[in-house]
Amino acid sequence: MKFVLLGCGSSMGVPRSDGFFGKCDPKNKKNYRTRCSAIIKGKSENILIDTSPDLRSQLLSNKIKNIDRVFYTHMHADQTHGINDLRIFYLKTKKRIPIYADNLTKRYLKRSFSYCFDKNSDYPPILKFENMKKSFLFDKSIKLVPIKVKHGSINSLCFIINNKLAYLPDANRIYKKDFSKFKSLQYMIVDCLRYTRHPSHFNFEDIIKLNFFLKPKKMILTNLHSDLDYNQLLDILPKNIKPAYDGLSLNI
Ligand SMILES: [Zn+2]
Repeated sequence: MKFVLLGCGSSMGVPRSDGFFGKCDPKNKKNYRTRCSAIIKGKSENILIDTSPDLRSQLLSNKIKNIDRVFYTHMHADQTHGINDLRIFYLKTKKRIPIYADNLTKRYLKRSFSYCFDKNSDYPPILKFENMKKSFLFDKSIKLVPIKVKHGSINSLCFIINNKLAYLPDANRIYKKDFSKFKSLQYMIVDCLRYTRHPSHFNFEDIIKLNFFLKPKKMILTNLHSDLDYNQLLDILPKNIKPAYDGLSLNI
């Protein structure tokens, strides 16, 4: 089974739409970052996490031919606005794609993209909501546990997969009661927006602390803003922490 980071950029991507690279070296391909999303590639199922506005190009560059279900971390535009790119996966199977999200995200998706869920236009609905559970088992081998984490004024969901990998691309706090679930994982893929503080995201100092307390074998930083140049990060990070890049694939 593989976990692929389709995108690891902050909400405007690197470079931004106007070509701004910030402190990132445009000569390094690893500094070209699309908006955050990821995919779990199982034996016979692909599970997508978030539909970023860059979804189409992400699926093309990673040669993803099927999407079997979609989990959402939260309702922000950089996680949801590529939803329309799911249409082809409905057309291929003629089955509505199962969608899993918290209530706030469900309400936002229903309100903003009602044509995807309800028959209110000439086009058939392509998606259907499924209930959230404490734990899921898919494809006989993919165990997925959603956990609420704080993301500014809202909660987002992070996912722990097979007790090995945690994916928390948008968060600024892990609640105390859940702290033990994140200890000593093989991979921890975590939000590290920038060097300076932000009310809704972990920053550089926060992830150094998290690494000290949680002791993952490997920590991978995502949701990277244009302040954070890939090579510069490599130079200053402890050995077990690496910045992500688009297309990074992990065997789990
Ligand atoms: Zn967000």
